Amino acid sequence: MYIRTEMSISKESALLGTNWKKDEPVPYAVLCRTFEKCENTTKRLEITEYLVTLFVQVMRLSPSGLLEIVYMCINKLCPDYEGLELGIGESLLMKAIAKSTGRTMKALKDDYILIGDLGTVAKNSKTSQRTLFRPKPLTTVHVFKTLKEIAQLSGQSSQNKKVDKIQGLLVACLENEAKYLIRQLEGKLRIGLAEQTVLSALAQAVVMKNPEFDKWKQQKKEEQLSTATDILKAVYNQLPSYDMIVPALLQYPIDELLSKCTMRPGIPLKPMLAHPTKSLPEILDRFQDQKFTCEYKYDGERAQIHRTSDGKISIYSRNSEDMSVRYPDIIDKIKKWIKPTTTSFILDCEAVAWDIEKECILPFQILSTRKRKDVKEEEITVRVAIYGFDCLYLNGKSLLQEPFVERRRLLHSSFIETKNEFYFATHMDSNDIADIQTFLDVSIENNCEGLMVKSYDGDHATYEPSKRSRNWLKVKKDYLHGLGDSMDLVVMGAYHGRGKRTNVYGGFLLGCYDPESEEYQTICKIGTGFSEEILKTLYDQLSSHVIPAPKRFYCLGDNPATPDVWFDPVVVFEVKCADLSISPTYMAGVGQINPSKGISLRFPRFIRIREDKDPEDTTSSGQIVDFYLQQPNI
Ligand code: AMP
Repeated sequence: MYIRTEMSISKESALLGTNWKKDEPVPYAVLCRTFEKCENTTKRLEITEYLVTLFVQVMRLSPSGLLEIVYMCINKLCPDYEGLELGIGESLLMKAIAKSTGRTMKALKDDYILIGDLGTVAKNSKTSQRTLFRPKPLTTVHVFKTLKEIAQLSGQSSQNKKVDKIQGLLVACLENEAKYLIRQLEGKLRIGLAEQTVLSALAQAVVMKNPEFDKWKQQKKEEQLSTATDILKAVYNQLPSYDMIVPALLQYPIDELLSKCTMRPGIPLKPMLAHPTKSLPEILDRFQDQKFTCEYKYDGERAQIHRTSDGKISIYSRNSEDMSVRYPDIIDKIKKWIKPTTTSFILDCEAVAWDIEKECILPFQILSTRKRKDVKEEEITVRVAIYGFDCLYLNGKSLLQEPFVERRRLLHSSFIETKNEFYFATHMDSNDIADIQTFLDVSIENNCEGLMVKSYDGDHATYEPSKRSRNWLKVKKDYLHGLGDSMDLVVMGAYHGRGKRTNVYGGFLLGCYDPESEEYQTICKIGTGFSEEILKTLYDQLSSHVIPAPKRFYCLGDNPATPDVWFDPVVVFEVKCADLSISPTYMAGVGQINPSKGISLRFPRFIRIREDKDPEDTTSSGQIVDFYLQQPNI
């Protein structure tokens, strides 16, 4: 999907306004005007055009400001593995708005309940305020730097310091700047800027900034735009760090980018994901004449283990968070598992809870009781073992393009299985359905979730970072009992408990994420599968996330299921259900099967809290539609 190639960048950029001159910092107003335009359309093509216009202008006038602009468009402060995040709480933001506008907290709260968006409340509060003199215009460099400082503040009196810094920015805001500033601070821009759109706009801007672009034939324009987009996405997949990509993009021609920005230990890749399958014959259908291999599907947490050539070892989660501090016991032991000839590497693994006496895997629930922060080795009660199933980088070389058969060979020849610590994933390479059934049964007896079935050899067996690929299939035991895959869903609200559940929430409103519209769409009410203990934990955990009104980006439909309390989208549940049906009340996948109705889960049952999943990383509305359509009776 490319922008209109006849679009004139110079004409469009006049709309960016302001007297922004060459080599001067990018005015924050320019960015906010672009945000406003993106927010006012739902068309992906138009959003891309606005971004391309912005990026081309920044590359021409103030290229040194491009990195901050890109980060602000995706509303991040740094790569995920550095762990610096915004997400400032509403009460703190309201305090800063009150201080900078002179309005009372009560008035702000009332407005917020009415409008549902704190950014707009801030903007309206500023507009109604009289100022004696015009403040100095904000620049993107200054705003970005201050946002980073705010995120870094911790410890005593940090809350007051945060309020002061936010207030400092707010007093200088003009027009719609306060609206986007507050949303940036909340951690959610909600203007339809998916990261993939930002990436493709960046690639297209690199092509369109060429002064000759307007003179090219249409076919050449389209080819160049498409090649640049493919290259940038491929580069990002193996090196997801704008800190490295953006400077290289400004320095080298785009066709050299893949060789300049190569993957490296220390920078986590987005892991490859698997497609669910419902039956064993489906596996044979999918792979037909291709070679495939089966592995146990371990029930733990994904762990990407990196070692740089100078010996630094780190472990990253499936969301690219640095988990090294969570696993000090593992970091210590990894040296023993490495053969002397192995220098640098990236391993794809699963960390599972481990019973050292019986030498066996323990259920996931036990792993989830392990502390996530400030873990001291001497206090660890839950032991962890690592199952290695893939090797993505070895001794200075990327293995992503190698077939799995070769990656597995290198994994086995470069590392050493170590009792109670490190094992290779158990595998079986037979294509006979009876053998696969037996292997599946044994995997379950060994406390695994089922099987992963992977393309083994040839072009289809490469490693595809960040993709939910059909070259990896997952078969869980429940699929075969007709229950289908579990889903990971976001808690949007709750209902007060009655009877035995009087002092806790008795049921919850869940939703799925739609990456296209960046909305959470309601999917079901759930009240089954919870122990008393878990309800208590959930009450304590969720109470701090209560918000006075549903978020603007909650899609509730015309006959909404209204809970007693609403929450910020923070907590994720794994859930199973009997089947899926079309519903006038719930909105999952609305517009995809029926123009005004969504899909809902029948007889949903709670399985567990998924602390390792971000709300935006959960089962998407597209996947829910797939689940619905895959039902035998549909
Ligand atoms: P799911 O979370 O249900 O989409 O299943 C995919 C997850 O299974 C991966 O993200 C891994 O954390 C986990 N997993 C367990 N065993 C394996 C294996 N042998 N190969 C790949 N992934 C595995």
